[in-house]
Amino acid sequence: MAEKAILFDSSKCTACKGCQVACKCWNDLPSPAAGEAKWSGTHQNPIDINGDTRLIITFNETEAPAAYSTKPIGWAFGRRSCQHCDDAPCATVCPGGAITKDEETGMVTVDDSKCIGCQYCKSACPFDVPRYYNDGTFGKSIINKCSGCVDRIGAGMEPACVATCQPDALKFGDRDEMLKIANEKVEWLHEHGYPDACVAGNDENYKTHVLHVLKYGYEAHGQLENPSIPATVAMTQVMKPVTGAISGLTVVGLGAMFALAAGYDRRRLAYNPETQDTLDYDTGEVVQHGDPQDSKSVMEHITENLPFGKGGKNHE
Ligand code: SF4
Ligand code: SF4
Ligand code: SF4
Repeated sequence: MAEKAILFDSSKCTACKGCQVACKCWNDLPSPAAGEAKWSGTHQNPIDINGDTRLIITFNETEAPAAYSTKPIGWAFGRRSCQHCDDAPCATVCPGGAITKDEETGMVTVDDSKCIGCQYCKSACPFDVPRYYNDGTFGKSIINKCSGCVDRIGAGMEPACVATCQPDALKFGDRDEMLKIANEKVEWLHEHGYPDACVAGNDENYKTHVLHVLKYGYEAHGQLENPSIPATVAMTQVMKPVTGAISGLTVVGLGAMFALAAGYDRRRLAYNPETQDTLDYDTGEVVQHGDPQDSKSVMEHITENLPFGKGGKNHE
């Protein structure tokens, strides 16, 4: 299978948010119940991606090029979701192997059953994409981000967001072909009065498997022009064998303790206050003869020493 890409063409997007909804539907992601939603007061809702929302359409207004536009202000719609970076720093730092790059398609996939909730991927991502939800375990966060719909791609389908887009603002296919279409569209936009139009995610800038045609340029659409991988990613790579070894030793230690504990059978003992013998509770065997153990209960000892307690000297 050739390397794949999703192409988002902002000049065709009507911001209907059908893709947002399709993503929720296919991935069975909840939406906040009425009254619980934190609305932004703008058309952009929710205001950002979150533990239940992998994709949003962003709404930015921008000054339209005067020469060709009939309106002074234009909408610079954007797609905010995982960009499926070719280098995928989130996958590089993930100690649990929960994030991996699919070598066939280039999509960066997630196996949330392997996520240990460390959130390293969040600090490694140049686009601030990974979000988390709680799986019900106390304090345990599980990553949620766009998986590139690799399950659908594997079954010969397009990603759910692409399949639902009516004006063809989303396309999916071989990355080379998507890049060619994007470059041709930018050329056309340049010729038609949009001099800042550009392609985000191309090979020269920062290679990703989500390409964007940005009608008004990077900034207007809220896209990074020069994304960079944080320096901490390299540091994590140095530390990874160390943290891996520590984790490994911890697991070995716990395993050894479990093995030892498995062979340990605690003996249950009973005391006979009449004979003062200590017996094996299960077999009745006398373990110790004539041991003068104290037959009073703990409560009797406590109360007899209280000034006004039962058995105390002032209790008459
Ligand atoms: S479905 Fe298509 S047109 Fe609608 S918001 Fe998404 S990308 Fe834009
Ligand atoms: S590719 Fe799939 S998971 Fe990613 S945004 Fe589109 S529908 Fe959602
Ligand atoms: S955009 Fe962020 S989460 Fe997506 S592949 Fe790149 S680094 Fe990973």
